[in-house]
Amino acid sequence: MDVLVIGGGNAALCAALMAREAGASVMLLEAAPREWRGGNSAHTRNLRCMHDAPQDVLTDAYPEEEFWQDLLKVTGGQTNEALARLTIRASSNCRDWMRRHGVHFQPSLSGTLHLSRTNAFFMGGGKALVNAYYRSAEKLGVQIRYKAPVDRLELQDGRFVAAFVGNERITAKACVLAAGGFESNREWLREAWGQNERGEWPSDNFAIRGTRFNQGVLLKHLMAAGADTIGDPTQAHMVAIDARAPLYDGGICTRIDCVSLGVVVNREGRRFYDEGEDFWPKRYAIWGRLVAQQPGQVAYSVIDAKAAGRFMPPVFPGTRADTLPELAQKLGLDVPAFMQTLNDYNAACRVGAFDHTVLDNCHTEQLAPAKTHWARPVDKAPFDGYALKPGVTFTYLGLKTGETAAVSFGGVPSHNLFVAGEMMAGNVLGKGYTAGVGMSIGTAFGRIAGVQSAQAAMKSGASHAAA
Ligand SMILES: Cc1cc2nc3c(=O)[nH]c(=O)nc-3n(C[C@H](O)[C@H](O)[C@H](O)COP(=O)(O)OP(=O)(O)OC[C@H]3O[C@@H](n4cnc5c(N)ncnc54)[C@H](O)[C@@H]3O)c2cc1C
Repeated sequence: MDVLVIGGGNAALCAALMAREAGASVMLLEAAPREWRGGNSAHTRNLRCMHDAPQDVLTDAYPEEEFWQDLLKVTGGQTNEALARLTIRASSNCRDWMRRHGVHFQPSLSGTLHLSRTNAFFMGGGKALVNAYYRSAEKLGVQIRYKAPVDRLELQDGRFVAAFVGNERITAKACVLAAGGFESNREWLREAWGQNERGEWPSDNFAIRGTRFNQGVLLKHLMAAGADTIGDPTQAHMVAIDARAPLYDGGICTRIDCVSLGVVVNREGRRFYDEGEDFWPKRYAIWGRLVAQQPGQVAYSVIDAKAAGRFMPPVFPGTRADTLPELAQKLGLDVPAFMQTLNDYNAACRVGAFDHTVLDNCHTEQLAPAKTHWARPVDKAPFDGYALKPGVTFTYLGLKTGETAAVSFGGVPSHNLFVAGEMMAGNVLGKGYTAGVGMSIGTAFGRIAGVQSAQAAMKSGASHAAA
């Protein structure tokens, strides 16, 4: 075996396909059974793409510099510029390759996401994307094994020797790690988040938006083996989702996208953050953390009839009432406290020209926290409320890498062990998020890791032959 790819999501599949195309024999080990294959990638919808002019499903232009500035802003500078730019440039020319492997694109839907310019949507979503890649990989002769969770590696001086699935030892000349983050590991989340000043263990109230199989087993193993790491273990991409979501695999349909159109209050009926700070794609990922900091890790998004039709409706209807006090009661909130918040907010709104597609001039005055855009009184019945809880998308802790996607040990890059996707996304995304960049990183580094691993395998084959 030339190349062993560990993982079964987008990054792993990109690596397997590229390694195979480069002439290597490839085996892919997916922890999940076939019907749950594809990891978090199966839940995705789009890829953020740089482009200098309108391109098939993408409108207008999204130049490198603007993409870079967006990344810089959301990460607060916690990003490696060289790797970020590499990702950005790779996003401009990967779609033809993706199409060759059966991925189809479609224009974005309308709604609050403002993504038609920046993000290419997968026809049929991420599930169709991973299915297409699996089909293509099978056709090209990649060996695929399901229910094959790798629990440890055999390494020798930073070189990959073998992977273990239980007692089975699988050797290869090179290996790509693409086994996701540790977001599905509730014990580890508990350890990372700890206990708060109220004595709560916040992570006990988190849902995991994606797969249950990203347990971080190999991340932990590699850390213990001395691999260089990057990223804050307490940082995770977290979205405020429908509090009725299941523990795993709720996916995007549990998202509540109306935050910027109304107000959000905590269990005590108080607002706690500017709901109109920025466009939703740039800000939705901070709301999980904001809700995680509230008592009981719960909050309530409240809108009025004016918001209807302006956001992607959640799968399940919210709690509806004809008056605000009735809504508060139905949501189980203290009615006087809630009404005080809503009355203060409504009185503070300075409505200008409402336009949800730009950072408009509707704002509050003399209100803390302010609502800086899209502030309109919540006053037109019927009123809807959605209970929110934090939904973890992925964790940021990963393995440090460089332009060749090699795993490094004490600053020395391995010759035959590579990493891609969430397992290294922290190199580009130290914190924060901008929609679609997870797939840009996984596609860019999955493809690099595939080529590099094939080359490493060929080299080692050549040196073995010469020896
Ligand atoms: C609901 C949701 C929606 C999202 N939407 C988007 C979007 O629209 N655009 C975007 O860019 N990003 C999105 N993301 C983020 C995106 O999913 C990730 O950035 C990306 O899929 C990561 O790809 P990956 O291949 O690294 O990980 P994954 O796709 O999670 O794959 C990891 C794989 O490793 C396997 N695995 C884990 N441990 C082991 C082991 N020990 N041995 C063998 N296999 C193992 C898992 O079973 C899985 O197949 C979304 C995430 C979620 C949860």
